[in-house]
Amino acid sequence: MPLSDIHFKTWIELDAAAFRSNVRTMRGLLGPRTRLWFVVKSNAYGHGLVHMSMLAQKSGIDGFCVDSVVEGGRLREAGIVKPILAMGPTLPHLFAPAAERGILLTISGREYLDALGRSGARPDFHLKIDSGMHRLGFMPDEIDDLSSRLGSCEAVRVVSVFSHLAASEDPDYDEFTHRQAKVFIEAAAKIREAAGYPFLRHICNSSAIIRFPEYHFDMVRPGIGIYGIGDFEGLDLRPAGRFRTRISQVKRIPGGEPVGYGFTDVSEKERIIAILPAGYADGLNRKLGNRNGSLFIKNTRVPIIGNICMDMCMADITGLNALVGDEAEIFGDSITIDEIAVKCETIPYEILTSIPARVKRIFFRE
Ligand SMILES: *Cc1c(COP(=O)(O)O)cnc(C)c1O
Repeated sequence: MPLSDIHFKTWIELDAAAFRSNVRTMRGLLGPRTRLWFVVKSNAYGHGLVHMSMLAQKSGIDGFCVDSVVEGGRLREAGIVKPILAMGPTLPHLFAPAAERGILLTISGREYLDALGRSGARPDFHLKIDSGMHRLGFMPDEIDDLSSRLGSCEAVRVVSVFSHLAASEDPDYDEFTHRQAKVFIEAAAKIREAAGYPFLRHICNSSAIIRFPEYHFDMVRPGIGIYGIGDFEGLDLRPAGRFRTRISQVKRIPGGEPVGYGFTDVSEKERIIAILPAGYADGLNRKLGNRNGSLFIKNTRVPIIGNICMDMCMADITGLNALVGDEAEIFGDSITIDEIAVKCETIPYEILTSIPARVKRIFFRE
């Protein structure tokens, strides 16, 4: 169906070809035995959990990482058959529902291991080591105790031991990253000895996959790179999503008159403006108003003027000859998410995950 037949006012176009190409590019960085589990937490970084995961399953991904059992459950209901790991904390009352659905759990502390021992449910699980980020995970001085408990508890089975790097993207902290890897390797070795059977080891997110091939181990967990976002030197990753809207009204504003709430934007000159149906409730951050951000309309970058409203924004299109119905890019090929993130003083991850469900996600370019 051509896009012109689709009447969504504001939407995200998903580019399956770009996505598959990103998967191939990432896969190309890995050895033949390293598994690639795709991170789809937070609605697949705003791209839409179910359809992105279905596409990924067809594109040869080995498994999925979500945050919660609820997200994992949605994937199972949608027909995802590959392994699913809930990387976030899972309270003991969800152990049984997780086991029933074949969702792998993260055990990140002693309380959870104890609860697992007591629980009738026996979900397979992954052990999270805190190698220095100091979020979830067993601290290095807890590994001996953990190992002895594992040795005495034969009913539970460790599928993997993993950790997360705090600054893998930043060369200034490479020494810290190497130290994290060392802590992780030592912890995994102790656990291996106590468990008496092999398991997978993994620590790499996207930037670590690219910058630290020596730490790929048995499996990697890329998110952002597969969506084609971020500036990864020398890698041809393409954005899998483009955020677009369509002009709702065009009008001529006499010189000296303001546009929008609060009289923040007044021009001495007459101007032509476009009103567009995308506001901060669509994830168009209010910091992009008042000429900080732009839209791309008719091959031209135009400033967003005035304050961004809840459901709408305005742009100065003087001289463009743009009409009602013409498309505008919020981000995509011409305006990158990285650029927007800088302007909003945040990171691309937050820009993407702030786009709510009312913005329709649709596929094109199969
Ligand atoms: C989000 C996350 C990832 C993926 O990180 P990217 O930077 O998007 O590649 C991997 N592992 C864990 C534990 C995460 O929370």
